[in-house]
Amino acid sequence: MHHNHLAAALEYLSRDLSIKEVILSGGEPLMLTDARLAELIQALEAIPHLIRLRIHTRMPVVLPQRITAGLLNILNNTRFQTTVVIHCNHPNELYPEAHLALQQLHGNDATLLNQSVLLKGINDDLETQIKLCEALFSSGVLPYYLHMLDHIQGAAHFDVSQEEAVALHQGLLSKLPGYLVPRLVREISGSPAKTTV
Ligand SMILES: *Cc1c(COP(=O)(O)O)cnc(C)c1O
Repeated sequence: MHHNHLAAALEYLSRDLSIKEVILSGGEPLMLTDARLAELIQALEAIPHLIRLRIHTRMPVVLPQRITAGLLNILNNTRFQTTVVIHCNHPNELYPEAHLALQQLHGNDATLLNQSVLLKGINDDLETQIKLCEALFSSGVLPYYLHMLDHIQGAAHFDVSQEEAVALHQGLLSKLPGYLVPRLVREISGSPAKTTV
């Protein structure tokens, strides 16, 4: 973040006493160096009413080497309750290096959650979804959201119908313990939160 934008964001956060959680998301927060991230977290820690930090990142699965000892140290030493939300769509993404990186984060007291996108022909069958949920849990990650695709132009061939998505979700509920079943959601533009399907 540009320095002025950061100052403005910190100012905003310190003024609103109702804010308890800060989410680093959009772009890729772990593209920041460990030093910059430490600096940012320290600045946030100086705001007493903030108690939770959430980081949305694909790094543990796309570049597990990014989960450095330095990063683990930063997350281990923050006063924040930390949640890391990864974005993993398929059990094959959880190869051994990713599994190890996630286990290290998990062992470091971070709560790990996953959000994925339902993609036709990729992960829209019950077997793949069950494998994904179980593989996530074995890496210390709880399935959080399963997104229905936004209607992005050019991605229609990945679109799964609402009926199929709901049937798949019902299948998961019948085969897995409740805590391993993600919430089926859709993002409707203009609405501030995700909408449960
Ligand atoms: C959904 C989402 C959020 C907000 O998460 P909630 O758990 O619904 O509060 C933040 N960042 C990204 C990238 C998201 O997809």
